[in-house]
Amino acid sequence: MINVTKTYLPDKRKYQAYVDKIFDSGWITNNGSLVNELERELCRFLNVKHLVLVSNGTLALQVAYKVLGLKNEVITTPFSFVATTSSLLWEHLTPVFADINPDSFNIDVQQVVQKINSTTSAILPVHVFGNACEVEELEKICTAHNIKLIFDAAHAFDVKNEKRNILSYGDASILSFHATKIFHTIEGGAIIFKRKEDYDRAKLLINFGISGYDKVDTVGINCKMNEFQAAMGLAVLSEMKEIADKRKEVWMRYYNRLQSQSKIKLQSINPDFCMNYAYFPVVFQQEEITLNIQRELNKMEIYPRRYFYPSLNKLDYLHGYQPCPVSENLVTRILCLPLFGDLEASVQDQIIEVICKNTI
Ligand SMILES: *Cc1c(COP(=O)(O)O)cnc(C)c1O
Repeated sequence: MINVTKTYLPDKRKYQAYVDKIFDSGWITNNGSLVNELERELCRFLNVKHLVLVSNGTLALQVAYKVLGLKNEVITTPFSFVATTSSLLWEHLTPVFADINPDSFNIDVQQVVQKINSTTSAILPVHVFGNACEVEELEKICTAHNIKLIFDAAHAFDVKNEKRNILSYGDASILSFHATKIFHTIEGGAIIFKRKEDYDRAKLLINFGISGYDKVDTVGINCKMNEFQAAMGLAVLSEMKEIADKRKEVWMRYYNRLQSQSKIKLQSINPDFCMNYAYFPVVFQQEEITLNIQRELNKMEIYPRRYFYPSLNKLDYLHGYQPCPVSENLVTRILCLPLFGDLEASVQDQIIEVICKNTI
């Protein structure tokens, strides 16, 4: 069975060596030495300063909202994983959807501007499939309106240019280190803050608001990363170069064969940043063609995913319908193709063949 993604498992001996350290120390959670080591290593690898490790990407979002004092309305994208919207609702914030750009699949900056009002406290864009948003325009808008900017960068691990990592834009960015993401800690996540004081505040909040022995400063939550998660992270991080090279190879094979097909559309990539080859989304002309291709591949035990479906503005539990025609249309026509380092070229060729046959 070939799924859209496959969890990367590092060299078992490397992981085992970290686990041996954990058993030697007997310290398995609560700001342990491996969590601290992973935090330092990630800061170096990603070229960022204030990175807090947490237990998953969804809680990373929720803690970021709390630290930055979000309230009332938050402008976000309808084209993302459900956690982008549900995390807002969980924190009693109101998602306001700005439609996406049909080429980049990221939030449309013009639409964002139109949705800002006196109750807007923040903008929450997503670098969808690792494609960088128009970060500088979004920063200007947020500064002009004195509102916060938080990027859901769950797909954007190691997206950068010569000068900066994508995570250095906005007031904060969050990463997910779930097993399905390109870098993972089994489950896990991180918040990257612009300001040191926000980092300090997050450190307090993720550990029940406890600031010292017998001292509780504020209402907190528990979303600490544990030592076994950090062990997996350190082992995977040490192999990131090989992971990235292999993914690039697989990605390029799809790209070279599908890019010239006139009835297929690929995501337009922001040329100001490098990509991380995390996903390979393909857009077809009609829903029917999309479903036919999906059915045909499923018969061969190949499972591309409709990422993302439904458009988040159409979630049943939202009050009131906010139309986003571009996103609502895109979700019916998009498939993410299987993409992982050891995907066999012969399987890729089968996938490409089914697609080409159905799109002539
Ligand atoms: C994976 C993902 C999340 C949630 O991360 P978890 O670590 O699974 O909680 C949030 N946003 C986006 C865009 C994601 O893809």
